[in-house]
Amino acid sequence: MKDNDPSLTNAGINTRLSHIGNSPSDYYGFVNPPVVHASTVLFPNARAMETRAQKYTYGTRGTPTTDALCEATDALEGSAGTVLVPSGLAAISVPFLSFLSSGDHALVVDSVYGPTRIFCDTVLKRLGVEVEYYDPMIGAGIEQLIRPNTTLVHTEAPGSNTFEMQDIPAISATAHKHGCVVTMDNTWATPVFFKPLDHGVDISIHASTKYPAGHSDVLMGTVSANAEHWPQLKEASGAMGICGAPDDAYQVLRGLRTMGVRLERHQESALAIAQWLEGRDDVARVLHPALPSFPGHDIWRRDFKGSSGIFSFVLAADGVDRFKPKAHAFLDALSLFGLGYSWGGFESLALHVNLSDRRICKAPSEGPVLRLQIGLEDVADVKADIEKGLAAARAA
Ligand SMILES: *Cc1c(COP(=O)(O)O)cnc(C)c1O
Repeated sequence: MKDNDPSLTNAGINTRLSHIGNSPSDYYGFVNPPVVHASTVLFPNARAMETRAQKYTYGTRGTPTTDALCEATDALEGSAGTVLVPSGLAAISVPFLSFLSSGDHALVVDSVYGPTRIFCDTVLKRLGVEVEYYDPMIGAGIEQLIRPNTTLVHTEAPGSNTFEMQDIPAISATAHKHGCVVTMDNTWATPVFFKPLDHGVDISIHASTKYPAGHSDVLMGTVSANAEHWPQLKEASGAMGICGAPDDAYQVLRGLRTMGVRLERHQESALAIAQWLEGRDDVARVLHPALPSFPGHDIWRRDFKGSSGIFSFVLAADGVDRFKPKAHAFLDALSLFGLGYSWGGFESLALHVNLSDRRICKAPSEGPVLRLQIGLEDVADVKADIEKGLAAARAA
């Protein structure tokens, strides 16, 4: 089936995830695309070589495998074009380097993915780009921070680790009035639950490492642009020589086929556990946008179609000196949950969140923040494991 098949355009999300990005009839009917390993592509004659008059010209410029994933991503995002990059972090640094110049001012949300901040405070700073961090709840109020040299507004919703929501349509409309490009790290929701370009964003960013790959064994990122911004993104990323590898692209495309059903389970289990935690005395607060008690829940309900499997909670602890011992006691008592970075795989993970780099959205005062990625295990087993952690934290 082709991406532009009208029966696919209007189909449900799981139907589309099952069929987008590949045309079996192009490859002798095989259901999946071939993994094409390539640097050199041969031309039939000097004239074709001179004019580059063929679909594929060199490995860095795409192969049938990377194209299959780019086409699937464009179908999901509604984008004019997508570039594949070797990690989710590169999916942020590449558009930043594509659209920012020396002397520019960029506005970046304070609840941003930590390594994005490091990129801004080191590489961008050295290149003469001034980055200012803003309150995720700012909405149209972002206008007050826009200067004549502001060229880029970066959003991420919900925010990393603390899950603050952002009014993306209001921020985009305001930023566009002043000619800024709007980027969004949409890794949490995936295009299944939120389509950034439909809400005014120009550049949609995903760490495919997370739910698209889904098995904790691949690093990749996608950057998808609307028609206005695609030529500049394509040119700059091509100039930098940053490209995704075919084996990884194949794995991510494979992951996309089941991403919808996996997300349904992640959503259901994470919500059940978040609600259960919210009712407990040893938990001060649960940071999950789909909970009605969460500030920003109304924005989530208005704009998002669902919630994924990662959220945080604030463990009740009196006295800042008890935060770390209780957090460590909780983590060390877990056996089903792994202690590790990243998320979006099939297995549950936990970590103690470090918010020391925040300028505006400071760490909660009631206790340590613990982040949980709820995997595909059975909820009863996951709860039993958390019970052990909470018991250990009480005793600490
Ligand atoms: C993990 C993550 C990234 C980076 O992805 P990597 O592939 O690990 O580099 C970017 N943004 C968010 C929100 C993430 O959680």
